[in-house]
Amino acid sequence: MTPEHIIRYIRELYQTEDFIPLHEPRFAGNEKQYLLNCIDSTFVSSVGSYVTRFEDMVAKYTGANFAIATVNGSAALHIALKLAGVGPGDEVITQPLTFVATCNAITYCGARPVFIDVERQSMGMSPDSLLQFLSQHTTQTEAGCINKRSGNRIAAVLPMHTFGFPCQLDRLVQICTQFQLPLIEDAAESLGSYYHGQHTGTFGLLGTLSFNGNKTITTGGGGMILTNDAALAQRARHLTTTAKVPHPYEFQHDEVGYNYRLPNLNAALGCAQMEMLPRLLASKRALALEYAAFFASSDHELVTEPDQTLANYWLNTLIVPDQSKRDLLLQQLNAAGVMSRPIWTLMTKLAMYQDCQAGDLTQALWLEQHVINLPSSARLT
Ligand SMILES: *Cc1c(COP(=O)(O)O)cnc(C)c1O
Repeated sequence: MTPEHIIRYIRELYQTEDFIPLHEPRFAGNEKQYLLNCIDSTFVSSVGSYVTRFEDMVAKYTGANFAIATVNGSAALHIALKLAGVGPGDEVITQPLTFVATCNAITYCGARPVFIDVERQSMGMSPDSLLQFLSQHTTQTEAGCINKRSGNRIAAVLPMHTFGFPCQLDRLVQICTQFQLPLIEDAAESLGSYYHGQHTGTFGLLGTLSFNGNKTITTGGGGMILTNDAALAQRARHLTTTAKVPHPYEFQHDEVGYNYRLPNLNAALGCAQMEMLPRLLASKRALALEYAAFFASSDHELVTEPDQTLANYWLNTLIVPDQSKRDLLLQQLNAAGVMSRPIWTLMTKLAMYQDCQAGDLTQALWLEQHVINLPSSARLT
């Protein structure tokens, strides 16, 4: 199967000879109407009924008891980690194969990431690597779970559901419970993805979503904190609204808070997008099935959802066994106006994180060299 075959096939899927982006938003519902309503109401900023409505829609959809909207997914992660107790001098175990926002949020808390490997199939945090790291490199003390090498406290475990493919959450939850560590899920890419019938982002103490322009649904920019804990939800709301003590007119703030609240304008877009979500997911699943059938006769492998999970197929992921063929495919697709991307450069190779402790990263290194994302926008007719 040559790059030319693949280019022709993708052009047929999208029925166009124009540039094909990797993932573009679809506004085919009530987006314009809700935005106009929002403008007419004059409540365009962080107070307004669309914010509450959007939060209720996401809570109901994911099954989380509480959903707190934020300006973006990075801010949601920052607050989630802070609420889990991550602070200066702490360490957070995460995966090197992720978007940089995961690690930056750890840094915003004054903590450092520790990197362990991902699994080949889900491309998310490997439970085996987590168990091995915690068993070999940590000790339980009164101060918590201590990293024997650095002497620092491990404050949380932060897996990420890569491209919407859920990690093995039952094992991750079990290991975190065993070592008494809070589990925070970076579910930025996995709205509409389920593990054993339960929505991703609802397994840990807290989970976070992103509604950036390239995600499954978008609010322009936006994010959400999910939790089942009423006290944490209240703290999340407080911290994201400058820690203002509620009062009709007085300014009283009881700690250093953040201006992280999602504006009503963005939430209006979010309400319309949530209404569209089932259609978007159905279209993306159909697209993934077509890609899978097309590549079945090649030596390339389209990544499909692990057993007992439902993926949102945010970005279709192709594994090309021969790295030079992968590189050639990337170059030719992009040259032909069919946008495709490699997976992220591993976090362990970025200047800010190259000195962080890392375990054996065999799978992450392999995936970095063999993965390519294909155009994945929903096709709505
Ligand atoms: C998109 C994304 C985020 C959050 O990004 P924002 O642009 O801040 O909304 C966080 N983690 C991962 C893995 C992401 O893909």
